[in-house]
Amino acid sequence: MYNPEDFDNDRHWYRSRGISFPDDVDSRDEKIHSFTPKPIRSHNKSGRKIMPTTKGPLNSNNPKAYPFPRLLTHLLPVFIIGCLCFSGCTVMKEAQHRREERLKKQRDDQYLMLAASKDEIVPIGEGSRTWGSAHYTITFAEDLKEDANFDEISERSIYADSALSYMESLYNEMNAVFGFQPEHKIHVTLHKIYRGTTSVATTTTQYKYERQGNTTLKSVTGIKMDFPIPMYEKPTTRVHELTHAFTNIYFLPTWFNEGIAVLMETEWGKAGLHKKFDSLETYLKRNMDGINDLEDWATHGGSSQLTQWRYRYAYTIVSELRKRYGPDFYIKVFRLMDADQLHNKLPSKMSTSFLVYYLSQAAGTDLTPFFTDLAFKVQKLTKAEIIQNIQQMNR
Ligand SMILES: [Zn+2]
Repeated sequence: MYNPEDFDNDRHWYRSRGISFPDDVDSRDEKIHSFTPKPIRSHNKSGRKIMPTTKGPLNSNNPKAYPFPRLLTHLLPVFIIGCLCFSGCTVMKEAQHRREERLKKQRDDQYLMLAASKDEIVPIGEGSRTWGSAHYTITFAEDLKEDANFDEISERSIYADSALSYMESLYNEMNAVFGFQPEHKIHVTLHKIYRGTTSVATTTTQYKYERQGNTTLKSVTGIKMDFPIPMYEKPTTRVHELTHAFTNIYFLPTWFNEGIAVLMETEWGKAGLHKKFDSLETYLKRNMDGINDLEDWATHGGSSQLTQWRYRYAYTIVSELRKRYGPDFYIKVFRLMDADQLHNKLPSKMSTSFLVYYLSQAAGTDLTPFFTDLAFKVQKLTKAEIIQNIQQMNR
């Protein structure tokens, strides 16, 4: 779930139809780039031309060789060309600087631009409200049919085509980032008003319990995402919610789930507005029991100051670990969890101690002290102890 008060994506408005301009190049850049070297080339060429090759070097200590008027006629072009060079170099530097600035801005602004997916997008059912692609369906809620922008089938069809194409590309990116993908299709519903507001988006992972022998197994049965249109049109919200769609299948602690989602929108999407804290120690908040307040974070969303701190602090931890143990750190973590399949046997969400076991395995070092120092209530577990705990909880 994402609290939209957190960020402002006005600069992404033009991408709100969701699609991609992979070859989008600012032609002005190219012109500046190709223009600026010319003064240097012409100067060098001309410079060689005016240099006296038979009468010795142009040397002010040898005036006889260059009587003043003649010297002047030689010096003048040098001066002019020198000015041209200076001016050219300055222009070039300024242009280069402008270009760098613009490219930097474009990188930030266009980071969420993705190549359009080639997956087939088809209408589903007779109602002209649902379209499907390889990994999604997208449905227009009843209340959108009242909206002037979506009351005609052709309008919905064009929007669905664009939205699914973008979401398929985003899906492929997420797959590359996490190293896995959910087994189920993601069912997206677009609303005019969702939960009485236009500013809440949610991702819901549905699951069921099944008794197998003396163990209860949890398994995912479906994934749904709900966006009011203004929320869907924020690229960072899509990244945040799609991250949940991917990682929810591991039943992670809320703080870690949200930390990963903010990491994705901020460091991959380059557009989140949750700022990282510059010190985990300085900005630590404890609950009344002296435990890190993140451990109390059970339900998503909200806009209180504490909730804002939770998003930022969780993101700071997740980002810090990634910085320490490398960009593939979380791919390793999820691979280890997937290999063991112990998360499916937990009767509730994963505890932080359980998570720390996998973080430590992926890091190659025990991370319990890192979390203890941050006032998490954790203990170092072995896999045998985790299995034993699961058996106890399930009996
Ligand atoms: Zn969230």
